[in-house]
Amino acid sequence: MQNSLQPLCLSLETLHRVKGRMLEAMERGLSRRTHSHATVRMLPAFIRSTPDGTERGEFLVLELGDTHLRVLLMELSGDTDQRVMLKERRFPVPDAIAQGPGEKLFAFLATCLWEFLDGLHMPQTDFELGFSFPFSCRQTRLDQVSASPGPAGGGAGGRGGWLGSLGRYHIKVVAVVNDTTGTMMSCDANAGPCEVGLVVDAGTNSCFMAEARHVEVVEESEGRMCVVTEWGSFGDDGALNDVLSPYDHQLDQASLNPGRHRFEKMISGLYLGEIVRHILTELFSRRTAPALLTKGSVQIQDILEITDEQFGLATARRVLRALGLEASDQDCFNMQQVCKAVCIRAAGLCAAGLAAIVSHMCRSRELSRLKTSVAVDGVVFRAHAKFSQTLQQLVKQLAPECDVTLVQAEGSSKGIGMVTAVASRLAAQRLQVNQTLGLLQLLPASLGTVQALLRQEMELGLKKETNARSSVRMLPTYICATPDGSERGDFLALDLGGTNFRVLLVKVGSWERGGVQIVSEVYSIPPHVAQGPGSQLFDHIVECIADFQTKQGMMGQTLPLGFTFSFPCQQTSLDQGILLSWTKGFNASGCVGQDVVKLLREAVKRKNHFALDVVAIVNDTVGTMMSCGYDDPSCEVGLIVGTGTNACYMEELRNVGTLAGEEGRMCINMEWGAFGDNGCLDAFFTPFDRQVDEASLNPGRQRFEKLISGMYLGEIVRRILLELTDKGCLFRGHPSPKLQTPDIFQTKFLSSIESDGLALRQVCAILEELGLHVSCEDSVLVREVCQVVARRAAQLCGAAVAAVVEKIRENRGLEQLAVTVGVDGTLYKLHPHFAQQVQETVRQLAPCCSVTFLQSEDGSGKGAALIAAVACRVARHQRA
Ligand code: ADP
Ligand code: MG
Repeated sequence: MQNSLQPLCLSLETLHRVKGRMLEAMERGLSRRTHSHATVRMLPAFIRSTPDGTERGEFLVLELGDTHLRVLLMELSGDTDQRVMLKERRFPVPDAIAQGPGEKLFAFLATCLWEFLDGLHMPQTDFELGFSFPFSCRQTRLDQVSASPGPAGGGAGGRGGWLGSLGRYHIKVVAVVNDTTGTMMSCDANAGPCEVGLVVDAGTNSCFMAEARHVEVVEESEGRMCVVTEWGSFGDDGALNDVLSPYDHQLDQASLNPGRHRFEKMISGLYLGEIVRHILTELFSRRTAPALLTKGSVQIQDILEITDEQFGLATARRVLRALGLEASDQDCFNMQQVCKAVCIRAAGLCAAGLAAIVSHMCRSRELSRLKTSVAVDGVVFRAHAKFSQTLQQLVKQLAPECDVTLVQAEGSSKGIGMVTAVASRLAAQRLQVNQTLGLLQLLPASLGTVQALLRQEMELGLKKETNARSSVRMLPTYICATPDGSERGDFLALDLGGTNFRVLLVKVGSWERGGVQIVSEVYSIPPHVAQGPGSQLFDHIVECIADFQTKQGMMGQTLPLGFTFSFPCQQTSLDQGILLSWTKGFNASGCVGQDVVKLLREAVKRKNHFALDVVAIVNDTVGTMMSCGYDDPSCEVGLIVGTGTNACYMEELRNVGTLAGEEGRMCINMEWGAFGDNGCLDAFFTPFDRQVDEASLNPGRQRFEKLISGMYLGEIVRRILLELTDKGCLFRGHPSPKLQTPDIFQTKFLSSIESDGLALRQVCAILEELGLHVSCEDSVLVREVCQVVARRAAQLCGAAVAAVVEKIRENRGLEQLAVTVGVDGTLYKLHPHFAQQVQETVRQLAPCCSVTFLQSEDGSGKGAALIAAVACRVARHQRA
């Protein structure tokens, strides 16, 4: 007895080995190169999501069995406790039809369906339908299969969408489902994700939600895709040779398909009885029992009953007697041991396969732990409770990194209906998403329009008579030359207008003495200061300067100071600037209309024993252009994409109608953030842009900036996420309270999300931090939203740069212009695609310009110092 069963005992170590080989076989099935000749086929099922409980509506199900056709209508309520109602009718399938040509079969199906629908007396005429096929299928889409004739016979494949209209009904075939995927999809979504299906019935098969990028035979790389393993054939290449017993060889030799389906032949209901029979034949070899030599004389049902602790021995006796054996108690006991051993081995092998699947999922999702339910179905599970227990225990040992819960599937019809319902949900959501995001997608022609509009606004802004009508102010900066490299000396610089206020000491020396060296200190400007009385703001600034000087041991020194002040100012000289309006987060009172340098000097006066020598007020765009110009003389444009956005460039003085003088050039601070404030961009604003604008500190102003810069992109994304959630496309329709908080979604998230690997772990982490429970589809969609918003920003910015460089080219009457743009701003510098998309757009829209983008290092500080240096040189000249 012991000897007979020995070959069936598989140690845990052996099962580990089997798991490893299954993993390898799965990899071969997934790889494009080896897919076609893999033993474990890994067929994509084109199911991209599992039920999330929000599916709703009515769905038709056709389930074709060997003798019957079931037609069902499944109604889903789609609310918090998803209710599922099924109405069903069965139609016997006449032999002539089951064995007849495919056309006849389909005509029969159509007739039954029509009868069923008519019997429902529903006003509705359009239905979506899911269909199960008892053949092994290769799918090319969810609604298309080609079938290879399976045990059920007939070859009726390739008929996706075959029903079309049926009398007054319109039927759309949404899904063709196999029993394994149906099993996975039938499970209740509220019990947590169920992403594995396992069937051990007459045959065995499994499916799971794989990462689409690993399923190389399909194009998709984002999200998930259900893969049917077809693992019954595992071992057909010899991978199981060392675990096969003599009984397996006998069984295989006598089977219809010797050498094939080796894994299935050790596990599934069709074969377990035969294995038992072969063992019994050896055990009882000295007795004659002709029935025992007959194939199929031991049935799976018998085995499962025999393994029952309570009634098993009695069943064993009955079965042995039916086989013509007069059985002693010992015989019955032995028979029970045989059946148990066969079942335990089957459970062990099944566990090795399942462990391979969940380990694969865990690894490919880059998780340290995976938690999933596994929906199980089939006669072996239904009849034999021990099978599940053994399977569960062994999977735990074989895949300790996974928490696996086995769940009994709720019937194939529901599964087929759910595949249909999920496909329908995804299609409806995609439509909504495309509608929403379509608003933010810009065609090349639209970008050309933006370029042309800005060009027009620039012309208006430069002319004295039309300046007031333009939304871009085109402010003179009194900077008439870029640096020539001869600048020397120590300077102070202030940088106000962004996230941080900084005080800097800039030492401009010769190349030999290290070029430009900067020491700086960051000070915060609390919102109550940025938005309080102006005098308080400037007092605060002076306090920070004093602190800096103390720290640097330069109290009492009065170095020339360049003041980078990144707000629109009307200048009449280099050291005077009338604030036109606050932007970004600033709104201090009593400043607009005042000379900012004067406000600073007054604050200095209010502080005793303190002096400053303010020689220039500098816009940050100008500072950036100047600091890049120090290294690259062809830098004649400055661009900022940080908290806000703006640009400056060298314009011909003769074109500047607001200033006297015809000769030479002057740097013009465009203040392009306000582009569109006169309504010229209204056609480009989406509802999200309008919401962001209305909720801002400066509604109706800086409209272009609000499409592009760091202060707003995260907020645009947040508003879109809320809308998509509201439409049921995200987070199962439930936003978290946190997500409803303005500005909670930071622009830096866009960078992390777009640079996240395909496993999307950062996306999940960010969203979970916002209190959101995210599915894989959620993270894919959030990433898509971020991409669309950032791309639009970069393209708009590119269109604006194109307008500027084209103007410079035309000013100079050149066929071809080579120019450098000095750029600063964290969004431009840190976003993974922004810079490249800006450049790409410029290439497309300004083909006659070859534009180099040079990132400035500390443009505001170094640039301000260089401007101060130039100012001092000019002043010395004037005095001399
Ligand atoms: P400022 O423009 O205020 O002088 P920055 O150029 O540093 O300062 O820009 C700050 C802005 O950059 C912030 O508004 C923030 O939204 C954005 N930002 C910060 N980090 C990132 C990042 N990693 N990716 C994209 N944007 C970022
Ligand atoms: Mg800045």
